[in-house]
Amino acid sequence: MEKRELVIVGGGPAGLTAAIYGRRAGLDVLVLEKGMAGGQITITAEIENWPGIPMISGEELARAFREHAEKFSPEFREAEVKKVSIEAGKKVVATDKGDIEAEAVIIATGASFRKLGCPGEAEFTGRGVSYCAVCDGAFFEDQVIAVVGGGNTAVEEADYLTRFASKVYIIHRRDSFRADRAVVEKAMANPKIEPVWNSVVEKIKGTDMVEGIVLKNVKTGETSELPVAGVFVFVGMNPNSDFVKGLVETKDGGWIVTNEMLETSVEGIFAAGDVRDKFLRQVVTAAGDGATAAMAAYSYISEQLHLQKVLFEPERVVSLFYSSIDQEQIKLANEVEKKYAKKVLLIDGYKNKRMCEKLGIVDLPQVVVLNKGSLVKSKAINDAQAIEGLL
Ligand SMILES: Cc1cc2nc3c(=O)[nH]c(=O)nc-3n(C[C@H](O)[C@H](O)[C@H](O)COP(=O)(O)OP(=O)(O)OC[C@H]3O[C@@H](n4cnc5c(N)ncnc54)[C@H](O)[C@@H]3O)c2cc1C
Repeated sequence: MEKRELVIVGGGPAGLTAAIYGRRAGLDVLVLEKGMAGGQITITAEIENWPGIPMISGEELARAFREHAEKFSPEFREAEVKKVSIEAGKKVVATDKGDIEAEAVIIATGASFRKLGCPGEAEFTGRGVSYCAVCDGAFFEDQVIAVVGGGNTAVEEADYLTRFASKVYIIHRRDSFRADRAVVEKAMANPKIEPVWNSVVEKIKGTDMVEGIVLKNVKTGETSELPVAGVFVFVGMNPNSDFVKGLVETKDGGWIVTNEMLETSVEGIFAAGDVRDKFLRQVVTAAGDGATAAMAAYSYISEQLHLQKVLFEPERVVSLFYSSIDQEQIKLANEVEKKYAKKVLLIDGYKNKRMCEKLGIVDLPQVVVLNKGSLVKSKAINDAQAIEGLL
């Protein structure tokens, strides 16, 4: 099986940033992307909140990310990841182009549009129903269309669609938008936009193409028909995490749970960007996540796997686990280093908590004696002399 150091699944802002940081840290990096690298931003017209660039098209920013990542020469491979699993303690990434064994994996697969689930939606997708204003907006020149949703994406994209459409209704289930104030103010000042409050789409109707929608007022229960030629759906996102279902801990329908270092519940598997459980899903937070995950993966690969080698492979190892934030313990580690030179392996237990957990070390400092990975002895010590009998 192909063996790689760091496998990044997904080539959006999170995955591409992780690739930059991973390569700069000297890791062998493989990026697996099922489509074209760039992610969701490739389908948005304007990005106004990427710091340093007041306005850029999504496509341009995605291209800049790709070119920047390419400069550090990670390997890009067009492949869809079907499953990530642990087999005999190894992380295996199964793709439609074969399996890969990875020392660390970063899941950066983002999120996909949620569907309305009403009659007519599936039938008219591509024939008037769309999830991408940039891709399909131009087909609705001088026509009346509807946008469904009330968050930033819905309101921003409705505003963008007025470049083509003669009128854009925004159908929202509440009586005010969830979008940022500035976004709402801009859209509401646009004479082509008309909100339809407290309403949900019951049905999308038409013959060959969309001709109208049936709306239900959630307050009164009344139904009405609105003639429109197109329906753009922006009602939230679902995480692209099915391929790790049952492996890593998730929340509320698949968002991956991580800690501050973006570690998932499985050692050596990290998650970054929109796919994880987080407060704000944006390009800037996805890129930040990518950087954190790559550095955490680097630290995992270099520390944990190196430690595994020096601790678990030799016939006999005597190791002192100490805390690098305790002055007394630093002094003790220095004394041990001086007295026993290469006979005792010094390990910062404060930084290597997972290894401490593995060896059952609760308090530091602690000396452990290992034989080919099996714990022979474990002893708390206070002075360098106490190690003598263990050597
Ligand atoms: C219409 C729209 C407008 C937006 N506007 C803005 C904005 O103005 N400002 C802003 O900051 N953010 C905006 N966003 C949000 C922003 O695009 C996302 O927060 C960001 O792209 C998340 O990056 P990511 O890398 O986590 O995921 P994504 O961008 O979703 O990238 C994930 C990548 O993983 C790939 N992938 C998925 N599953 C697999 C698999 N199984 N195998 C291999 N590859 C896989 C996908 O093809 C994709 O390329 C907008 C989003 C949309 C949809």
